Amino acid sequence: MLKIKDLYKSYNIKTPVLSMIEMELKQGEFVSIIGPSGAGKSTLLRCINRMIEPSEGSIVFDETEITSLSKKALRGERAKIGMVFQHYNLVSRLTVFENVLHGRFGYKSTLKGILSIFTEEEKQLALEILDKLGMKEFAYKRCDQLSGGQKQRVGIARALVQQPKLLLCDEPIASLDPNSSKVIMDHLKEICETMGITVLVNLHQVDVAVKYSDRIIGLNKGRVVFEGLPKELSNYA
Ligand code: ADP
Ligand code: ADP
Repeated sequence: MLKIKDLYKSYNIKTPVLSMIEMELKQGEFVSIIGPSGAGKSTLLRCINRMIEPSEGSIVFDETEITSLSKKALRGERAKIGMVFQHYNLVSRLTVFENVLHGRFGYKSTLKGILSIFTEEEKQLALEILDKLGMKEFAYKRCDQLSGGQKQRVGIARALVQQPKLLLCDEPIASLDPNSSKVIMDHLKEICETMGITVLVNLHQVDVAVKYSDRIIGLNKGRVVFEGLPKELSNYA
């Protein structure tokens, strides 16, 4: 469902941040990208949904070449790719429910405070997803009243209302304590297993990657240095 070939990204001409990246994901896989800070993990995820422009190479997602899409066509493809961030990227003065609903339609309309633009069906979907993540009872709380782990569950819910095929998670537990981290990783695993959504997650904790992943990709200095099953990683490390 995702095939990356010979991908390069440089922010300046001298030093590429990503080089010769080759990668393939199958529908329903749970794959972690591990590597030290600065390895290029975040840049790689952001190339996939074209939050940043790759310099060279090919990214085929769901049979569509992402790197050559027009802005308009990109919008449609992006809806199939959910994104979860380390720092949640929620609008703190809005409620959980508002943040989640606007995953699908952008934040502009809520800033005017109109929830009525959403259909009952859309609201129902948002509540169902919040319920699945154990956050339904917080639906009408402002996001600035939540703990980090709760905020991240809202971040995941916002990505899921898009009904994505692929969920990209950029260091989703890097700001969380061990208990909240487990809750978040368990939810991601369940989303993958029960909803069939492909999950690609950046992590710097190798033990977490080993515990949850079907496959692990190791990145260092912008290159893939390992690709294999969790159990193969121990031979490598
Ligand atoms: P990781 O997620 O593995 O920590 P990043 O993708 O964030 O790695 O960063 C990889 C490298 O690219 C780092 O050396 C970082 O300083 C550099 N980098 C990231 N974003 C930018 C940017 N917008 N402009 C210039 N350099 C950047
Ligand atoms: P905090 O006070 O926690 O920094 P903010 O309300 O400033 O929270 O916003 C948090 C994140 O939400 C920001 O990183 C930004 O990317 C995103 N954000 C804020 N306002 C908007 C908006 N109008 N549209 C889209 N994203 C927004």
